[in-house]
Amino acid sequence: ASTLYVLATPIGNVCDISLRALHVLSLVDAVACEDTRNTAHLLNRYGLSKPLLAAHQHNENEVAAKIVARLQAGERIALVSDAGTPAVSDPGARIVDAVLKAGCRAIPLPGASAAITALSVSGLLHDQFHFVGFLPSKARQRETVLTGLVNLAATLVLYEAPHRIIETVDALHQAFGPTRQIVLARELTKLFETIHRCPLSEASAWLAQDPMRQKGEFVILIEAAPAQEDDAAESDRVLQILLAELS
Ligand code: SAM
Repeated sequence: ASTLYVLATPIGNVCDISLRALHVLSLVDAVACEDTRNTAHLLNRYGLSKPLLAAHQHNENEVAAKIVARLQAGERIALVSDAGTPAVSDPGARIVDAVLKAGCRAIPLPGASAAITALSVSGLLHDQFHFVGFLPSKARQRETVLTGLVNLAATLVLYEAPHRIIETVDALHQAFGPTRQIVLARELTKLFETIHRCPLSEASAWLAQDPMRQKGEFVILIEAAPAQEDDAAESDRVLQILLAELS
């Protein structure tokens, strides 16, 4: 069947691309990408040059139809985003959806994703993690989202752009309280990579100490809420005693 290759690209260090991804990029007829300059630069770094097809959040539906038509005409196309894995807080899902609905295949070429990269060095114990991605920028909506996450027994994974980091960390402190651990994973795989873990009460001061610490791209992790099992077991025990009294 006609195939779209959904291909992860580096999140900073240009060497973090798989040999398989480079092989596929060398074979495809075109690459659908978010920012053509960015992708041209990456391809150029590996001596490749391919026709590029702009596929960003504003034209995803139209470009999806074009990609489907080209796949059905027998072309091989790769889909990439600017950094990391397509469709993870990035365009791509609509294109893949259209491709699948048209009866074509989507083959993943795994590679970097900022969320998984940060989780791997967090040291936070996470049988479960919950991907939040970007929080809403409006304070009220952000609060609503955070309130809904407070009791979740899963490590939380958030993405943040540099200009809002202080505001977001303050909102997290307010919502989750002082004691839970936060991991600030900044500029992963890049020259100024910094991974800092501390209780939420200390995060703001740490960021304020050096303006450099506030710059760049961040993954924020928040330690999971303690499991509620003990509470449930205790309620159950009390209930059994009361029921026994009633009978
Ligand atoms: N598709 C990407 C992925 O698989 O991780 C995510 C793209 S999203 C538009 C960009 C956000 O990802 C940034 O604002 C930041 O939160 C996170 N991110 C991307 N690269 C990063 C890096 N090198 N270090 C820390 N966070 C990064």
